[in-house]
Formats: sequence, C-alpha cells, structure tokens
Amino acid sequence: MRKKHDEGAPEAAEVEAPERPRPRLLDASNLEDDAALRPRSFDEYVGQTKVVDNLKVFVQAAKQRGEALDHVLFSGPPGIGKTTLAHLIAHALGVPLRAIGAPAIEHKGTLASYLTSLQERGVFFIDEVHRLQPVVEEYLYPAMEDYRLEIPVGDGPNAEMLPLKLPRFSLVAATTRTGLLSAPFLSRFGIVLRLEYYTPTELTEIVRRSALKLGVSLEPAAGEEIGRRARGTPRIANHLLKRVRDFAEVESDGRVTQAVAASALTRLGVDQLGLDELDRTVLRTIIQKFDGGPVGVESLSAACAEERDTLEDVCEPYLIQEGMLMRTPRGRVATRRAHEHLGLPPPRQGSLV
Ligand code: ADP
Repeated sequence: MRKKHDEGAPEAAEVEAPERPRPRLLDASNLEDDAALRPRSFDEYVGQTKVVDNLKVFVQAAKQRGEALDHVLFSGPPGIGKTTLAHLIAHALGVPLRAIGAPAIEHKGTLASYLTSLQERGVFFIDEVHRLQPVVEEYLYPAMEDYRLEIPVGDGPNAEMLPLKLPRFSLVAATTRTGLLSAPFLSRFGIVLRLEYYTPTELTEIVRRSALKLGVSLEPAAGEEIGRRARGTPRIANHLLKRVRDFAEVESDGRVTQAVAASALTRLGVDQLGLDELDRTVLRTIIQKFDGGPVGVESLSAACAEERDTLEDVCEPYLIQEGMLMRTPRGRVATRRAHEHLGLPPPRQGSLV
C-alpha cells in the first residue's frame, strides 16, 4: 500500500452522509476534452512559462545530439496541461507518441508490447503513473535506464529470461500525486516538472483563443469573467466557455456578454472564486459538522458522499491555494477565509485558524 494517510486524524465513528451524491460540475478529471482546442505548438501553449522555456531547451539539446530526450515527469492537478505538453514534446522532437493510462497496463506483457513497438527516440506517454502496479513499475526500470527488457520465455520455474534491446525512447509520465511515487522510480526521471494553477489572466487568454477556434462571439469582459472563475484550470475554462455559449444561444442572441457569462456561471453553481457545489459542501461540512476541523479525510469523504481521491486530487489543492483549507497533521481545517466566503460566523477564539 503506497497511499499516504493522515496520521492521527480523528475519524468520526459514524457520519451521516447526504441522501444522494451530487454531480460534480468542475471535476476536471471527468470532463471531455475537445481535440480542436488543444494547442498544436509550444507557442500556442499559454502560461507555465518557466516549464515551457526549459522544455524547449531540453528538446532542442536532445535533437542536436541526436539522442532521446531524458525521461520527463509532469505533476499537477487534472486538466492543467500535462497531456498537452507530452504531445507538444513529441511534435517538437518530430517523433510519434504512444499513450496509455497506467491502470490499463495490467501486467508486464502489456508494457512490453508497448515498449517494443516504439520508434527510435519516440515518446511513450503514461498518464496517472502513480497508479502503475509496483511489479510493472520495477519492470520499467531497466527499460528507462538502459533501454533493455527481460522477456520471459517458457513457463514456471523453467522460464528463461531473454534480454531484449529496446529502441531509445523517452518516457513522459503524468501524475496528480508525486507523493505517491516511490523514490527509485522518481530518481529515474531526468526532468521533473511541476505545473501550477493558471492565473486568471492566462485563463482569460485561453478562453479568448478557444472562443476564436469555436467561432463564439465573446466580449472581452465575459472572457475575464470565465477566466476568473475557471478554478485555475484550462480544461475547466474551455468547459465553462462551452456551457456559457449554450446559455447565450438559447436565452439570448448568441453573443457571450459579461452579463450572460456571469448569470450562466452562477446558474452552473460556480461562484465568484470559481468554487463549485462540491467545494462549498466540503467547506460547509468541515465547519458545520466538524466544528471547523481538524477532520480526517476519510470522515470528510463519507460526510460529503464523495470519493477520497476526488477530494485529495481535485478539491483540496485548489481550496488550499485559495487559502480556504489547511492540511494539518491532525486533519483538514477550514480557514477564517472559508467562513467568510460562505457567510458563516468566524471560527471561535483559540481555534486553529
Ligand atoms: P491534463 O493532462 O493535465 O489532465 P490536458 O493536457 O489534457 O490536461 O489539458 C486539458 C485541455 O486543456 C487540453 O485539451 C487543452 O484544450 C487545454 N489546455 C491545457 N493546457 C493549456 C494551455 N497551457 N494553453 C491552452 N490550452 C490548454
């Protein structure tokens, strides 16, 4: 078991769950991407300037030497642009990309068939790499280090291991949780890059470009409204733009004005800070059912009827960055800002916030 757990987090013996789970509007891991909106070159990729500038140098250097690019690990929340960067790397290297999600690599054989079919200096993209089975992960080590695999020939104790030379390739891996990767695995990536949430200005630019590609007539102020409320995430920005366009087409003349955008976003349950219904439920639950916290993530997940992974991968990082939530050794705590944002009385004197 490689999952991290809170130590000493108080778990409520029994927590009343809401009657039915709510659909999660802004779970970027569950939203479909529109291929037409994906940037086609580094120049079209908005934001993450330091990461992109460094990558361009590494790619150029590998090309000049005629070598495979060092293995790359991207980390960051869902919808932040990790897959897009993997495609852009392959594009810049002028090589094909083969992609697979870690859960689909059920055994060593699946991995072997992918690795053996790669092109020289090609890119092998593994998404959600923290979900790789340990036995598969270890099988990957010699492939990453020396471009070599051991293929078992025959069955049972008499099976022989046949060494196989692989093409030189670049593994590009993406994860929402670097903390779950083992140290030996991490150490095999020559390039480790963390993607941060986008600023409202960068998201506004992404919305503007997406509107152009989709042929949506968008007022600049409406773009800003969407960018500001997109939870720091391009995938959510694109999703909101499309939903706002629906409102504009059905209830207005099709033009996305600031008034249309603001009212549509509010009807979609997205508030001024980009928090959605689940974010607010999480905060309200901590404040009202757990006295502001600290509360262990398991109790919180039961009380909100939401999976622990969704809370940890999607919900919490944004709430923490917005100063609404703190992770303490004893569990999650709602901050004073969270109380204010929800219009609830401030935490009592002497509490953790
Ligand atoms: P992740 O792999 O981190 O979950 P993706 O790379 O699939 O995220 O990005 C989701 C979508 O968001 C992409 O299809 C693309 O349309 C858009 N996107 C992501 N990053 C950017 C960016 N920096 N500039 C413009 N659009 C972006």
